[in-house]
Amino acid sequence: MKGFETHLLRLQPSSPPPSLSNGFLPQRQGVTNLKVPNFRLRSPSSPSMLKLFSSSTASRAHHHLSPAIRPGASSVESPFFKALSHLTGLNRRSTSLGGRRVFFCSDNASDAAAAAAAEAEAKAAESDSDGADAKSSSAIVPTNPRPEDCLTVLALPVAHRPLFPGFYMPIYVKDPKVLAALQESRRRQAPYAGAFLLKDDPSTDSSSSTDMEKNINELKGKDLLKRLHEVGTLAQISSIQGDQVILVGHRRLRITEMVSEEPLTVKVDHLKDKPFDMDDDVIKATSFEVISTLRDVLKTSSLWRDHVQTYTQHIGEFTYPRLADFGAAICGANRHQAQEVLEELDVHKRLRLTLELMKKEREISKIQETIAKAIEEKISGEQRRYLLNEQLKAIKKELGVETDDKSALSEKFKERIDPNKEKIPAHVLQVIEEELTKLQLLEASSSEFNVTRNYLDWLTILPWGNYSDENFDVVRAQQILDEDHYGLSDVKERILEFIAVGRLRGTSQGKIICLSGPPGVGKTSIGRSIARALNRKFFRFSVGGLADVAEIKGHRRTYVGAMPGKMVQCLKSVGTANPLVLIDEIDKLGRGHAGDPASALLELLDPEQNANFLDHYLDVTIDLSKVLFVCTANVIDMIPNPLLDRMEVISIAGYITDEKVHIARDYLEKTARGDCGIKPEQVEVSDAALLSLIENYCREAGVRNLQKQIEKIYRKIALKLVREGVVPEEPAVAVDAEEAEIVTKLDVESTENHVVEESPAPAAKEPKEEAQNEKKAVEKVMIDESNLADYVGKPVFHAEKIYEPTPVGVVMGLAWTSMGGSTLYIETTVVEEGEGKGCLNVTGQLGDVMKESAQIAHTVARKIMLEKEPENQFFANSKLHLHVPAGATPKDGPSAGCTMITSLLSLAMKKPVQKDLAMTGEVTLTGRILPIGGVKEKTIAARRSQVKTIIFPEANRRDFDELAENVKEGLDVHFVDDYGKIFDLAFGYDKQQD
Ligand code: ADP
Repeated sequence: MKGFETHLLRLQPSSPPPSLSNGFLPQRQGVTNLKVPNFRLRSPSSPSMLKLFSSSTASRAHHHLSPAIRPGASSVESPFFKALSHLTGLNRRSTSLGGRRVFFCSDNASDAAAAAAAEAEAKAAESDSDGADAKSSSAIVPTNPRPEDCLTVLALPVAHRPLFPGFYMPIYVKDPKVLAALQESRRRQAPYAGAFLLKDDPSTDSSSSTDMEKNINELKGKDLLKRLHEVGTLAQISSIQGDQVILVGHRRLRITEMVSEEPLTVKVDHLKDKPFDMDDDVIKATSFEVISTLRDVLKTSSLWRDHVQTYTQHIGEFTYPRLADFGAAICGANRHQAQEVLEELDVHKRLRLTLELMKKEREISKIQETIAKAIEEKISGEQRRYLLNEQLKAIKKELGVETDDKSALSEKFKERIDPNKEKIPAHVLQVIEEELTKLQLLEASSSEFNVTRNYLDWLTILPWGNYSDENFDVVRAQQILDEDHYGLSDVKERILEFIAVGRLRGTSQGKIICLSGPPGVGKTSIGRSIARALNRKFFRFSVGGLADVAEIKGHRRTYVGAMPGKMVQCLKSVGTANPLVLIDEIDKLGRGHAGDPASALLELLDPEQNANFLDHYLDVTIDLSKVLFVCTANVIDMIPNPLLDRMEVISIAGYITDEKVHIARDYLEKTARGDCGIKPEQVEVSDAALLSLIENYCREAGVRNLQKQIEKIYRKIALKLVREGVVPEEPAVAVDAEEAEIVTKLDVESTENHVVEESPAPAAKEPKEEAQNEKKAVEKVMIDESNLADYVGKPVFHAEKIYEPTPVGVVMGLAWTSMGGSTLYIETTVVEEGEGKGCLNVTGQLGDVMKESAQIAHTVARKIMLEKEPENQFFANSKLHLHVPAGATPKDGPSAGCTMITSLLSLAMKKPVQKDLAMTGEVTLTGRILPIGGVKEKTIAARRSQVKTIIFPEANRRDFDELAENVKEGLDVHFVDDYGKIFDLAFGYDKQQD
């Protein structure tokens, strides 16, 4: 018993009612201990009792267990569900549905009104308790008749749940006769009736609430009796309000016979619980289990907690049978199970039945808990995600990187294309639209999204149909070209032709111009200048060593990090569809391992194909026919033939000294002066100094080295001027004092190391006054031949001419290299003489062709010697050695043929060749002279070496005639087709004199 008590105490830790401990044991075993005072409403002497059946608000009063709230779902009519219905306000319908409810507590409006009236009845009910009980409670007033005297009662049908002793139930009585009888019995001080649960209708399988309602109202007399369960509850009529009757359950009854039909009145037996042993362990254990289950359910259900707390606090007599009734009444069992509990008179069995119902309830509450938890987790997870996403968006917006925002992206792309939509080709516009739609469908975090975004970026940024206004003014173009470059008349003429055609046609067509020539002759810079003259945008890319076709044609978009080719990149960066594109070093194009870059370049350059150039990345054709391509190359032979075929080659051979002087004076000096911040009046470079610089320092064909040297001179002049204190009033660039000092020191060191200064600059060491006096003297820096070495060091080339004049067996030849033309000597000498020793040794890093040339020359020379001097056995008996100086430089080619023959003959005849003679030409075995290449370069090289007479093959006459006058000026040039003529020119000088 003690254990039981402890359990209960734990259930309601706040304030255990004092009545609990002593009122626990039933005073009269086997009889239902219905404590009437517990049900009393509004008793001023016991406010706590009032609380048992009333709550603060009407809405909270309905702890109903009615299936009506969820019709047809009686199996789950749990208190939890009821709690929900409270919250959602479903219980507001309680007034109309009240007829089906069992109230544990009741305090709706009508109840409150009826409460006063019911008090008397309640008091009457109290008399149901035994004498001892009556004594213990001052509120009990014995009245007649007592419940046990009620052996004939009005039978009231209840539809949904049986009425348990100790519980309230409002019902609705529609039959006026029944209502009148009930009121009559109240008046007669016998306020009791029998409440019996209605059985299911056997004719219909549906037992829905509306059917039940109908049945109750329609059934009368015997029919009704048949449908009633035999066992019911003696119910006190607590109040009658209109057709609403509130019943309070008292004790169990069983119908024995019918007394009258209308209203149905029956005779009843009062049922008593079977006697049981209070100390029976099984009963105790079962009741403990009921309580512990109750506790489990309490953990999860606050509604149950309310039930239990109220019940345990206010039900004084807490007995095993009452515990069973309590459990069955409040749990969500269906009506059949509840009726089973009601009918069970064996207390142990009843407890077991209740336990079953409670366990089921606990399982349900567990499931409910997991469902609630899962849903809560899901909701909180989603909320978290949403919150983080919102934050991310806000951060991105703040940083201005709304890249993920699809609509913003689409807007951006649309804004780009909208202004010139009509210029964009239809096929491109279609692809753009398709991709924009695709972008909307893709997940922003997917890789596909990025690919599409980049693709759209490229598609929309290209200058579709956007051309720069071309200049068709020939005079202006000429002006611009002359401004930037001296000479180069071929190139300039070609560009002017191009402009003229454009002017007449109204449009210009893209062409390929190829500028070939040695380095530093201005190929690249003229390209830039042409773009300026034509008013086109300039783009340069070098294809030297390019081996990847994708550089030209682009990668397919499926590759990671795919990019369009150079041409598309060019269009993007220049922003117009008709730029001038300079493709540098086209002769140094690499060989791809997969695909040939030359063929890809062909597609790009070929005017037939490039109107529909297809870049792999872009995947739509673009029109490159308006692009003007200019290629540069050092050696034409190295350009792949199909490419060369489509080009218009303009070769720039290099500059002769005269041209170089002009370039240096009018262009290089100006820029160098400007770059160094020196005024023209501060410097004077004499003609002789410039000439010496060109002749002795910069002999190569181009002017890049000359440019470097001039820059070097001007830098040194700048230093000198600064040292002298000649500083402009407002320096163009403010130089930090410390920095200037460091630079000065460095330059002093370098001067000391490399230049032997004849007269050291006085300014640094002289007193200040003297320096100022000298200032005027050094204000203009003079540079002439004598002090040139101070600025640019010792001459690099002492003399290309190593013989002055050429001795016997030495003849000057002319050669061509990618760096321009040059002169070279062929030397021969006798190694050994003796009968039949005639042979030839060759040295000087000669290639196969040149070695063969030497053999041919030996043969031809011997033949000529035989003709001229038949008795001369020189070639037959002499072991000869032929050498071409500058042994470190590999040489090859057939054009030294005639030079070799001349050299051998000179040795044979022991007669030097004519002074200042140079020659070039391939010779056949019969002595015919074949044409050679590089006439201009060779002529320039010959001039440089002060050659007066040049012998060229007859077939090269045309090439020479085309040369500029200043190149040809002062040269004695002979064109020959047979070696005989060369012989005369080389050795006939004494005859001419004669
Ligand atoms: P390349 O491309 O042929 O190797 P560049 O075009 O780079 O040579 O020219 C080298 C430098 O020489 C440039 O600064 C250029 O201005 C200058 N230059 C070359 N030829 C001329 C010329 N005819 N008139 C003026 N400057 C020239």
